[in-house]
Amino acid sequence: MQIANRVVALGLFLPALLGGQTTSDPRLDRLKTELVRSIDSKAKLAQQMVDQVFSFGELGMQETETSKYLAGILEQNGFTVERGVAGIPTAWVARWGHGSPVISLGSDIDGIPQSSQEPAMAARAWIVPGAPGHGEGHNSGVPLNILAALAVKDIMVREKLAGTIMLWPGVAEEQLASKAFLVRAGVFKDVDANLFAHVSDEFGISWGDEPALSLISAIFKFKGQSAHAAGAPWRGKSALDAVMLMASSWEFHREHMEPAQRSHYVITDGGDQPNVVPSTAAIWFYLRERDYDRVTKMFNDAKQIASAAASATFTTLDTVQVIGSAWRPHFNKPIAEAMHANAVRVGMPAWDDNDQAMARGVQRMMGQPDSGLRAAVPPLRSPEDAAKASTGTGSDDIGDVTWTVPSVTLYYPANIPGTPGHNWADGIAMATPIAHKGVLAGAKVQAMTLLDLIMAPKLVSDAKSYFTTVQTKTVRYRPLIAATDQPATWLNAEKMAKYREEMRKFYYDPSKYETYLQQLGIKYPTVPTAVP
Ligand SMILES: [Zn+2]
Repeated sequence: MQIANRVVALGLFLPALLGGQTTSDPRLDRLKTELVRSIDSKAKLAQQMVDQVFSFGELGMQETETSKYLAGILEQNGFTVERGVAGIPTAWVARWGHGSPVISLGSDIDGIPQSSQEPAMAARAWIVPGAPGHGEGHNSGVPLNILAALAVKDIMVREKLAGTIMLWPGVAEEQLASKAFLVRAGVFKDVDANLFAHVSDEFGISWGDEPALSLISAIFKFKGQSAHAAGAPWRGKSALDAVMLMASSWEFHREHMEPAQRSHYVITDGGDQPNVVPSTAAIWFYLRERDYDRVTKMFNDAKQIASAAASATFTTLDTVQVIGSAWRPHFNKPIAEAMHANAVRVGMPAWDDNDQAMARGVQRMMGQPDSGLRAAVPPLRSPEDAAKASTGTGSDDIGDVTWTVPSVTLYYPANIPGTPGHNWADGIAMATPIAHKGVLAGAKVQAMTLLDLIMAPKLVSDAKSYFTTVQTKTVRYRPLIAATDQPATWLNAEKMAKYREEMRKFYYDPSKYETYLQQLGIKYPTVPTAVP
């Protein structure tokens, strides 16, 4: 596979070597070769952006530093930025260019609780104990999109190409809490196609239904009456009793659900202290099923069980607040084919011995096979292959966007295979050369696909035709949020407030340090021999 990587380094010859992967338009082909050089020349900017956002480590709805920084870079580069879109303070839309086609590039920006972790360190090492961090790698996607957009923009200016590039962040993806609201606010109204990007340990490109589930997440709040729990319990009504009864009723109900469902909950308010009968209590459910009708039925079942639990405990069901929602994503076939051809053309990053030592060290620490970093681009996945390859059934609110406008998600290789996801270990590679190289490779694929859509009207019309005559032929998008539901902009506010000042001391300062690793004084890679 080293040979394959050296071929990539020869860039110019690659299209010819890969035969069918060249585009039939020689001008487009030449410009794609130029994109590779242009993005490679922005390697310093890639490293800075990836490291900077990593150091912010902000949780969903509280991505204030991240949004200020990323939207600021776009503004400095001639984009017009609209902030606070859809009533979400950290959401924004940046646009540049004129006329059609309008192509949007999106990626998530939020972190994971308790995943603060020193990069390049194959052992648990907090930067700030207890703090959030990028234990999902969401620090890399918008930087990737910015690199792609800037490279394509330069070409559009010089070649006088019409078209509009739009960038947008996925806010609070971990709570699936923003994209349905962006759709409802009309953010994608005039968009012809959307290219999303998500970190992975390989190039994963597919079309058709994703092996994911639709979701509604909601918090059920109960109200009771407080009383001395020993002195006069007969005067109290326990809201916690209602929460516990709702949870155990759900477990009885689970026997009668279809096997494909996934549902889980946490108690976000269980009262203050044992000697006070809890006057308030709350339980947060994630409800997942295959489609709109099934997930809506689950939500209605949950509401009925909540009312019954209130009634049985002489409390009241105070509010049911929808926090997040997601349709099962469906990716556009013509765009996925074009994107995959570009991924084959770009090839995998040229990993070196340090990258492989880092990856193997992390894999051994996690008790996984130490196979190192991946070296080849896998084939384009059909819906059937994607289902077979799937080991889990999560949800992603990019689904709502994919049912609004022809879309594809580019999974790009910027992390280590074998990490569990949503975990501090997933942050180890995310401010190291593994992430920097993966972002450059991903940006090239994204930029080439963006240029395909700008320069080849047939790809845009084929994508629309697939969207209309195949994808939405029998399925019509209806939001899972009600007209009265509003974004939960308060999410994670307390958690961020608790850690932000301590985290601020560790924000990356590129004016003083070459890299974030240099600022933290960590050698790349650091693999302790005795793994705890
Ligand atoms: Zn994610």
